[in-house]
Amino acid sequence: MAPKYHPTPLSGGDRKALNKELGKARAMANILAAQSAEMRAKAETMLQQADKLLCESWNERMWSEGEPIDPSPTIDQAINASLRWLEIRCALCKTPSDVDLAAMKHVPTTFVHDLASRLRCRKCATAGRRPAATLLQLTAHPRHPRTDS
Ligand SMILES: [Zn+2]
Repeated sequence: MAPKYHPTPLSGGDRKALNKELGKARAMANILAAQSAEMRAKAETMLQQADKLLCESWNERMWSEGEPIDPSPTIDQAINASLRWLEIRCALCKTPSDVDLAAMKHVPTTFVHDLASRLRCRKCATAGRRPAATLLQLTAHPRHPRTDS
């Protein structure tokens, strides 16, 4: 795009004034853009902290009460909080396992508690059973080695 055309004023004083204003406006554009970027970075850090606190709050509730699992963070909130692993335990055989939320084919706005009815124990599934999964906590790293082949 061609730069905006400012008609040159006839008087030298007006030309000087115009150049001064143009210089100020150009400097201001850069300053405001830099401030915006800085503010956005701060906001993203704060959102990340807020997501982490939300996940930790849910973890504490799961540990202390185990319910209600709803409300829970969304998948993208957990991932944003760097807590992408959901630790679950089979309600029937009690086998614990970890689910990688980042690898799930769900929309990122899906709530973690909505996964409870969809997660299945591999061990029980091979025996033809489909017991529910108990949600334990959100973690940064998997806590159980994968036992399935
Ligand atoms: Zn099981």
